Amino acid sequence: MSSFANPAAALADILARIEAARKSAVASAPSTTLVAVSKTHGEEKIRPLLEAGQRVFGENRVQEAKAKWPALKADCPDVELHLIGPLQSNKTAEAVALFDCIETLDRPKLAHALAAEMEKAGKRVPLFVQVNTGAEPQKAGIAPEDVAAFIALSRDELKLPVEGLMCIPPAEENPAPHFALLAKLARESGLAKLSMGMSGDFETAVKLGATHVRVGSALFGARDYG
Ligand SMILES: *Cc1c(COP(=O)(O)O)cnc(C)c1O
Repeated sequence: MSSFANPAAALADILARIEAARKSAVASAPSTTLVAVSKTHGEEKIRPLLEAGQRVFGENRVQEAKAKWPALKADCPDVELHLIGPLQSNKTAEAVALFDCIETLDRPKLAHALAAEMEKAGKRVPLFVQVNTGAEPQKAGIAPEDVAAFIALSRDELKLPVEGLMCIPPAEENPAPHFALLAKLARESGLAKLSMGMSGDFETAVKLGATHVRVGSALFGARDYG
């Protein structure tokens, strides 16, 4: 197990597990990027990972990221910050200004809002479309059968920089069929990137072609929501 008292050791452990999973599978992607999910964690937990060389981080709330990351990015300009939580249409300006990738494009209204904001800001932020692979009513994301039409709208019509797909499988299910479905949908739409896999299942995701895995608790320890 990783040692949370030593963030560099925890990071090395996760990176080694990603590499091992890549070597063991024929379907792994040309490369797999670790998105270190730093939500709820403060600077004191994040800085040691920056010092250990980690550069890609994920946050799920715009306000929290806005409070934490401008100072960290000023010290470490090559950080790549991903938004992995829901984005309200009225927060698109803040999100486009702060994030280097938005993984949660999940509805037509947001696609239109992001297209308008990117045009206005003169900044194109790479996007992933979130897919609700488990068709869970309470979960955000495009239904699998609607993905092709949504890509046609967001990438082809609105000219958004859609680069990949993202999913969060149902908590109680075997994630592998969900990862395989996401990979199939991405192939069908000609998208190269796949953000899938979290602390409990990132090795499975890597084996099924993840280009990005989003790992929080296995890296930082349990989150305390206070
Ligand atoms: C919190 C979160 C993660 C990381 O979850 P862990 O199980 O702690 O690794 C990954 N993806 C999303 C969308 C999240 O909100």
